[in-house]
Amino acid sequence: MRIVLLGAPGSGKGTQARMLVDKFAVPRISTGDLLRAAVKAGTELGKQAKAAMDAGRLVSDEIVLGMIEERLAQSDAKRGFILDGFPRNTLQAQELDAKLERLGQPLQIALLVSVDFNVLMKRMTGRRTCGDCGQIYNVNYAPSAVADVCDKCGGKLIHRTDDNESTIGKRLDTYQVETEPLVIYYKAQGKLRTVNGEGEIEVIFSKICNIIN
Ligand code: AMP
Repeated sequence: MRIVLLGAPGSGKGTQARMLVDKFAVPRISTGDLLRAAVKAGTELGKQAKAAMDAGRLVSDEIVLGMIEERLAQSDAKRGFILDGFPRNTLQAQELDAKLERLGQPLQIALLVSVDFNVLMKRMTGRRTCGDCGQIYNVNYAPSAVADVCDKCGGKLIHRTDDNESTIGKRLDTYQVETEPLVIYYKAQGKLRTVNGEGEIEVIFSKICNIIN
């Protein structure tokens, strides 16, 4: 299974990607997670990426493509993968296609999780993520049972520094300008599938599974 999940920040694609990992046993590869880990570890790459992330802009293609190259070379990705947050512009999509073509393993589906822009802002300001296991909650829509504590593993819930109103506005702009053209890109390849990302998480998930199956 080789899938790209497309969707604006806050569309719920990260949540759906995690559920797909549990069901289909292929890794989720999130460039956002890889970049946050690099920032946290204080690596040179993390230092370079941080300013763009804090400003809601895209990190340079060179950094992101290098990270993806390394991650796709790991053994667990041989079975397939769910790409979450990558590609984010046309150049990244073209590079991904070229790489997968060389491996004889082309992408199968680009799945767009579509959510109205007005809903996205509320979702993102309320988002909380477990610092240990990555489980996602929302204080407005899907809170944890105990405030700031993960239901799954007891880890502390974190409010991402780029989930504040000004950065969110910029991230949504960046999505519209840089990433939304990928909808046309994958449509032209006949690989685009769209699911309405508003509503119950489980209902959306079952629609996604139907598309994949
Ligand atoms: P995400 O967790 O996917 O929302 O990503 C958080 C931030 O990481 C984004 O706002 C970008 O600054 C950066 N980022 C993540 N993925 C990419 C990518 N494929 N290309 C460039 N920047 C990225």
